[in-house]
Amino acid sequence: MRRTMLAVTAALLASAPIAAQTIQTAPTDRVIDQGTNHSEVMRIAQYLTDVIGARLTNSPGIRKAEDWTQAKFREWGLVGVHKEGFEFGRGWSNEKLAVRMVAPRPLQLIAAPLPWTPGTNGAVTGEVVLAPLADEAAFAQYKGKLKGKLVLLTEPKEIEEATEAPFRRWSVEEMAKRDFYDLPNGAGERPFNPARLTFAAKRDAFLKAEGAIGYAIMSSRNGKLVHGQNSQFQVGQSGTLPGIEIAAEDYRRLARLAKMGAKPTLEIDAVNRFDDSDTKAYNILADIPGTDPKAGYVMAGAHYDSWAMGDGAADNAAGSAMVMEAARIIKASGIKTRRAIRFALWAGEEQGLLGSMAYVENHIARRPVDSSATGTVRYMTWSRAFPITPGPDHGKLAAYFNLDNGSGKIRGIYAQGNTAVMPIFEQWFTPFHSMGATMVSARRTGSTDHVFFDAVGVPAFQFIQDPLDYGSMVHHTDVDTFDHLKADDMRQGATILAAFLINAANSDQPLPRAPLATAPTPADQFYNFPESAH
Ligand SMILES: [Zn+2]
Repeated sequence: MRRTMLAVTAALLASAPIAAQTIQTAPTDRVIDQGTNHSEVMRIAQYLTDVIGARLTNSPGIRKAEDWTQAKFREWGLVGVHKEGFEFGRGWSNEKLAVRMVAPRPLQLIAAPLPWTPGTNGAVTGEVVLAPLADEAAFAQYKGKLKGKLVLLTEPKEIEEATEAPFRRWSVEEMAKRDFYDLPNGAGERPFNPARLTFAAKRDAFLKAEGAIGYAIMSSRNGKLVHGQNSQFQVGQSGTLPGIEIAAEDYRRLARLAKMGAKPTLEIDAVNRFDDSDTKAYNILADIPGTDPKAGYVMAGAHYDSWAMGDGAADNAAGSAMVMEAARIIKASGIKTRRAIRFALWAGEEQGLLGSMAYVENHIARRPVDSSATGTVRYMTWSRAFPITPGPDHGKLAAYFNLDNGSGKIRGIYAQGNTAVMPIFEQWFTPFHSMGATMVSARRTGSTDHVFFDAVGVPAFQFIQDPLDYGSMVHHTDVDTFDHLKADDMRQGATILAAFLINAANSDQPLPRAPLATAPTPADQFYNFPESAH
């Protein structure tokens, strides 16, 4: 019923442009009209996924997306459209991977290449050996036993059966569970131990010296899902041996056959290419100018990079398409705002929010981290370094909104412990209650590109989205394709994002800020001893 009335209103507006100009229509209703009746969000998502496909940072796929997204922003009339580079690492792509068991019986296997590992340079055949190499102490046990072998690096674990429905929307009860406030634990997380990263390189060197032909890890999910994730992407750190991920069912069978002495043998043909012509990754930025140049700006962002398998649809062509669509909606609805609105598509998110971190460092604030630390080490150490030194845009950026929890519709927003924004967001959600967006939770959420903005005191938020099949099936997997994106959810998401941006850009006062963080006091000084005391 509601939907019918909305459609009627929209049809009247569309057929009577003169009336629409003379009669003042509310900005929110213009945004809803653009975002629902004239939505482009699925066309944008389809191009990013079906046509461009996987967008591993510094791969040929993301290079295409750099150009295409900028062209789109320009086509819609945004200004200052450009890409901003940051040092990342090697360019890499996979063109072919065929993995088959040739003994004790022929069988095609499901596998993914591990990014930034070399190809096999033609098909290679080798017996499978189960050699769990969890640390350097394990090397001695396998010395002299790996020549010409394909090494299974991990002992298979027992199958964990799913206990939840694979496709979900938050019920009222589950939504209520998202509304809580985590007391900050000043003891912090454990200090980052970079040994995990250096171990991978040591293991690689050991396997190479022993003459192994390659190695395999087991997929972390059942159901023949594979991911293709790896963290050795920097120049001088990438692997020297072909590495693959084998589907869990296929991997366990190989391990069982190896254990019983059946000598399972694989043929692997992997064609991978490196491209070191440009080691920089690029964030894409585009602006809609405000009417008051002194009023600063607000921002929306999503990462447009993905892992190597699937088409990076739910993670995160969905968020990228909603951010781009919000830009199109605002531009097309002709709404003017006091503050400028900046749209960002981040690269390097999957390797540690590296694109948004680079933006924060260059524009918002600096922290005293080891300047030589890059990649994962930088990600792990950055939030714990004090003091924070505000940069040129620290006072100018009034709000940042992120979308990166799949294609599920917006059900609310995490306020990141910033209690003063809560009544403001409650009000902004009012027109969208009937579309399912109601909750303002004080809770902090992490793992998306709002984190480093939030960490330096900028009001920065990730929306609460319906989970759909994100966690159960598509997140980082080979089935993260356009099929799993929900058009109605994404139209709703882009519309609400556009409305939030307009509200934030037009509010009299910039959004209230939480105090600038300083090194926290441990929650319990008597029992929570610092790590060094252990
Ligand atoms: Zn991801």
